[in-house]
Amino acid sequence: MDQIYDVIIIGGGAAATSAAMTLKNRGKTFAVVSNKVETGSLYKAEKITNYPGLPPMSGAEMTELFRQQLIDTGATIIEGRALSVLPMDGTFGVAVGSDYYMAGSIILTAGITREKLYPGEAEYLGRGVSYCATCDGMLYRGKTVAVVGGGEEAKQDADFLESIGCSVLRFEKNGRYEISGGMKANLLKFAGEEYPVDCVFIIKDTVSVTQLVPGLSYENGGILVDRGMATAVPGVFAAGDCTGKPLQLAKAVGEGNVAALSACDYLDKK
Ligand SMILES: Cc1cc2nc3c(=O)[nH]c(=O)nc-3n(C[C@H](O)[C@H](O)[C@H](O)COP(=O)(O)OP(=O)(O)OC[C@H]3O[C@@H](n4cnc5c(N)ncnc54)[C@H](O)[C@@H]3O)c2cc1C
Repeated sequence: MDQIYDVIIIGGGAAATSAAMTLKNRGKTFAVVSNKVETGSLYKAEKITNYPGLPPMSGAEMTELFRQQLIDTGATIIEGRALSVLPMDGTFGVAVGSDYYMAGSIILTAGITREKLYPGEAEYLGRGVSYCATCDGMLYRGKTVAVVGGGEEAKQDADFLESIGCSVLRFEKNGRYEISGGMKANLLKFAGEEYPVDCVFIIKDTVSVTQLVPGLSYENGGILVDRGMATAVPGVFAAGDCTGKPLQLAKAVGEGNVAALSACDYLDKK
């Protein structure tokens, strides 16, 4: 870990781009932890006709404009999935795979996840459920593990786990997975079958914000924020779809700007 950034932004969509532009103008150092742009809501929109200053265009085209603006801020872009945000002595540690980054403040712009948690996933997280093969794989050397997820990352993780001596069961289909056990998870149920396992590695694009940052409050399905986009955790701000309705581009961009200004004030007062 070489550097402590002023701010780490989690998510790389519209809200993140707006926050990054403001942080740049305020002379802050910042990094953006972002999944691939195709995972953002905007990318999926057929046509955007209600964003001021730009003509109607597809979500994919507008995503490209936002991405270029994000790159132009000079942000350090860390491609990957933030797994956890932990407050520590006035700073925050952000785990991305097996890497770790530090910042004085966090702006959450993780959008909304439409994927529901599997039964048992939250209960056994850290006790036989993991989101990161590189971080936890060694604990299960010589044991039987399941890798749930269909993308390239899931394939790589399965290969990695096999290479370190795990016996790997692959589950690529969507569906209802159920995890159960005692003190630790030890059984995966899927499509009427039961699979005894020592760990279930769940590889999704997103991590629910409830698991990402402990201590947040929620209202109507979004992260509870005040008018300055401050969350219940001092130093953590949120913007965009993750703060709730309306799920609209203009709101995401406005909130990203406010969250960045508030993060600057927070840092300047520290
Ligand atoms: C089909 C569709 C059509 C739409 N049409 C319109 C429209 O016409 N007009 C309009 O105003 N709005 C529209 N919207 C809504 C608009 O796209 C969203 O409001 C806007 O994109 C929200 O921006 P955001 O930055 O908050 O979230 P997103 O753009 O969703 O960005 C969040 C990003 O964070 C990433 N992320 C999440 N968790 C993590 C993590 N743990 N680590 C790293 N990265 C993470 C996600 O993968 C994603 O890439 C539409 C949405 C959809 C789905």
